[in-house]
Amino acid sequence: MCGIVGYIGKRPAFPILLSGLKRLEYRGYDSFGFFVLDKDKDFLLKKTGKISDFEKHLEDDFLNKVNGTIGLGHTRWATTGVVTEANTHPHFDCQKNIFLVHNGIIENYKELKEQLINEGHQFTSETDTEVLAHLIEKYFQGNLEEAVRQALKKVRGTYGIAVISKKDPQKIVAAKLGSPLILGINNDEFLVASDSSAIVSYTRQVINLDDNEIAVLSPNNFFILKEKPIEKIDWDAEEAQKQGFSHFMLKEIFEEPEAIEKSIVGRTVLEQGLAKLGGLEQVLEQLKKVEKIIIVGCGTASYAAKVGEYMLEEYAKLPAKTEIASEFRYKNSILDDKTAVLAISQSGETADTLEAVKEAKRKDCLTLGLVNTVGSSISRETDAGVYCRVGPEIAVASSKAFISQLSILVLITVGLGRQREMSLVVGKKILEELQKLPDLSKKIFSQADYIKELAGKYSQYRNFYFLGRKYNSSIASEGALKLKEIAWKIHAEGLPAGELKHGQIALTDKDFPTVVICPSDSVYDKMKNAIEEIKARQGKILAVATEGNEEIKNLVDDVIYIPKTLEMLTPILSVIPLHLFAAYLGLELGLDIDKPRNLAKSVTVE
Ligand code: GLU
Repeated sequence: MCGIVGYIGKRPAFPILLSGLKRLEYRGYDSFGFFVLDKDKDFLLKKTGKISDFEKHLEDDFLNKVNGTIGLGHTRWATTGVVTEANTHPHFDCQKNIFLVHNGIIENYKELKEQLINEGHQFTSETDTEVLAHLIEKYFQGNLEEAVRQALKKVRGTYGIAVISKKDPQKIVAAKLGSPLILGINNDEFLVASDSSAIVSYTRQVINLDDNEIAVLSPNNFFILKEKPIEKIDWDAEEAQKQGFSHFMLKEIFEEPEAIEKSIVGRTVLEQGLAKLGGLEQVLEQLKKVEKIIIVGCGTASYAAKVGEYMLEEYAKLPAKTEIASEFRYKNSILDDKTAVLAISQSGETADTLEAVKEAKRKDCLTLGLVNTVGSSISRETDAGVYCRVGPEIAVASSKAFISQLSILVLITVGLGRQREMSLVVGKKILEELQKLPDLSKKIFSQADYIKELAGKYSQYRNFYFLGRKYNSSIASEGALKLKEIAWKIHAEGLPAGELKHGQIALTDKDFPTVVICPSDSVYDKMKNAIEEIKARQGKILAVATEGNEEIKNLVDDVIYIPKTLEMLTPILSVIPLHLFAAYLGLELGLDIDKPRNLAKSVTVE
């Protein structure tokens, strides 16, 4: 979850580390720290709070005072030990020779710590990470990578680490297991980071480290234990800027129409009613033989999965099931070589989802990935897959990646459906309607000011239900989760509307409003039942309904309209106003919607 950045080259490292960390802050923002190695005077800084606040108070000449050209930076999302300066990375050994930043969790740290203390090591923090610094100290005999190698043999858990030693000074040693780590290659300089956003302003030549690999970077050279191809980042630094929006969250929601476009462009053959997904081509024959598909994901991605499940069963006639990735791994599902497991993750690094993929592979399933980040662990671990292609998503809560996941699930449904019983006419119709969505979704933004007003009006409430049925039942869950994430003073629950009467309605009254997603579809009349039940208990209702539905105005308190589309595609439109509503409500409550309390973007711990 934390963000790591390291630099070694000819330029002063500190400004590069600072700008890299700012880009990585979405991964963790409890606290941050730097270590820069310098001939005259090393620089170690640890602070709690956000980098942006620290930077505001930096004196102009501060940057020029730190001259070293080798350094590490870290932004933390605490797993072990509270948020204090002492627990902030970089951590160091007893002699302050070894400095280390870490992303992940050392699961056996307690035993190791006890043992190291018995051997005389002195600890200054409560973190799991610090044991790594002391273990490396223990094994150090002049060669840093060798000491790192020995130390890592002793640990259980996950890590992405970058280490510097003052006793073997011209290098950074980096290693990973389970947590992402990427090397940036430039002329006479090298970077290491948790993801490409920290690197892309300096170089687009990157190497994705694999598990158990150790990389050694020096000012004019680097090596890894085995030869690896250099890859190219497919987006530029401009895409990771706010571009006039106050927050990435808003920018990314406003990019949702473009995200649909980018996800589907070039991936349809309309006249044949076919989806053309290059990443799945090598497994097309295997896909024909698949008899069941399990879609795994966490949080928002699991709601996309659920929509996909409904689409696949209705249109591809393929038994489909959504599993929460963290449960899938342990529940011993019935799997075989006729089962495909599709893993959905924006970052492609979600540890729970990655582990689910590994378990599926152990059980001979065909594994597929639906991820945004090119070269990420899930994209490499799966047999085949599809990229979202929507550029970096910086805000911690997902928005445009979710829309993209839904759009690609439509393509996968058509792809698998046409291998089975789906007719040309149906395939063509779905794709035609899908292609209209970028334009139709843009229309929703003409109500942005109105949605902002509604957020103001509803900001007085502290509890919300979100209800939907069929394709929109998991959009209700997504709407509620987004509200909890980015307007975190509010509690919200998403429910399949039919569940309301089975207990939940006990809470409904004039102070407990409900957001009802009720497009004009096959379950609209059933949604009206839920509306009436809420109204009978004086509950306020905000509805998301289809344009042209005038009746709804008389049934509920407020209405946001979405354009008409096929029933299976309504989630792609109905979720947009819910994302906007959550963002505006968070802002109304004075919250930082880019960096919600207690969250981190890429959840690389289990
Ligand atoms: N376990 C380390 C800590 O708590 C790193 C946490 C992480 O990567 O999220 O400081």
